[in-house]
Amino acid sequence: MKHNTHIYLAVKGIEFLYEGLGNLCYAESNRKAFASTITKYRRRGKTLQRMLMHYQNVINEATWAPDDILNDKSQYHTFKLFTEREFQNSSNFAKETYKGTYHRASGGGGLPYKVDHLARVISDMDKLRRYNDRCSMNQIMYQYLMISHYIVDAHIPMHCDLRDDPPSPNDTKKPKNGLYYSDSLHGKIEQLWEDAVNPIAIGEDIIEVKRKNNDLPPTDLSQQIQFNVTNNEHCREIKPYVIPEDNLMSYMIDLCIQTKERALLLFPIAAPSDWDKELFPTMTREIFAQIISNLITVWIWIWGEK
Ligand SMILES: [Zn+2]
Repeated sequence: MKHNTHIYLAVKGIEFLYEGLGNLCYAESNRKAFASTITKYRRRGKTLQRMLMHYQNVINEATWAPDDILNDKSQYHTFKLFTEREFQNSSNFAKETYKGTYHRASGGGGLPYKVDHLARVISDMDKLRRYNDRCSMNQIMYQYLMISHYIVDAHIPMHCDLRDDPPSPNDTKKPKNGLYYSDSLHGKIEQLWEDAVNPIAIGEDIIEVKRKNNDLPPTDLSQQIQFNVTNNEHCREIKPYVIPEDNLMSYMIDLCIQTKERALLLFPIAAPSDWDKELFPTMTREIFAQIISNLITVWIWIWGEK
């Protein structure tokens, strides 16, 4: 995702923290426990929302720092999976295999590992702050905003799809018996989202006009990325989860697998560069709603008592 889209989504995650937790989804079906869980989570959510709002002035920098300052894009912003559907009999290229189906080639990025690790670091920083004041709330909130970057990236089809990275002729680490898509598509699609976000985010005072091309009218896609906390229908689209068995790592891996499946729809196996432009608007809505939901899911997981 591009810069302003990252900022916009982090702000939406904060805005929907309280309302979104009203739709909290929980794996078990004990109704009584569930009702008290929602109340507990919403109470926590309200405090976290207030804290994050207090540090709003660093959103710009913190949400973008992983691309700009940490520069760990190829290591931790992706989780490039492939299956036997696009590359038949290619399991020998797999470094790891998930659910018996989803292979990750070497150099395919470790996004779920980064989110899991960073989430635990943030939770530890909070423990240290309470114990000896070694970490400030300022530093902790910065990390909350920074982790949003990786969570957002896990939803981007191109970030979880090996076909986004065509191998060079002498690359022996990737299968070659299937089709990759043109490497210009990644930037093109992210630009479509950025162009849709800019006019909305400027209108809501989330970003400022810094470049001439920021200040353009809404695009066909702008309506799909718009989420307003005062709109009941929009609120219903936000569905955060209580992370099953407290296992953030497997939650993130499952999410990347889901994103990979989306990539297979958007970039059809037989002709991946011929991406599905008809499906794209609906998929954009789904992706953006899921991003806002999962920002809340992970933030509240970190914020919870451990
Ligand atoms: Zn990134």
